[in-house]
Amino acid sequence: MIKRLQQHLAEEAQARAEKNHARLTQLTGDFHILLAELSGNSIFSDIVRRLTALSSLIISLYDSPAASACKDDEHNAIVEAIEKGDASVASELMLEHLEHVEKSLKIDDDELDDFDIESVFNEMLS
Ligand SMILES: [Zn+2]
Repeated sequence: MIKRLQQHLAEEAQARAEKNHARLTQLTGDFHILLAELSGNSIFSDIVRRLTALSSLIISLYDSPAASACKDDEHNAIVEAIEKGDASVASELMLEHLEHVEKSLKIDDDELDDFDIESVFNEMLS
């Protein structure tokens, strides 16, 4: 499990070094799915998969193209805590991380009122 997570972090680092933002956005989303899958709880990993897909869509719509919603070192810190077997630190770091992700999505209620899912898909298809 640790090996798989470290391998994933190496891929993230490589995409970051190559400034491949599309790949990095994909990989940072995949990190959350991988972590959920490794928990062995299929209902949880299904929920995370759906949330990640939705978040990636929102990131591509609202975030600057140069940014990734997942900050550079936060995944590493989470994996480090898991490696040490420190569950409480790992979950604390993940909660902090998700808060940062949520803030970076920069969506306020006014924007949500205007959220038009049809135009989102039209934009994706164009
Ligand atoms: Zn993340």
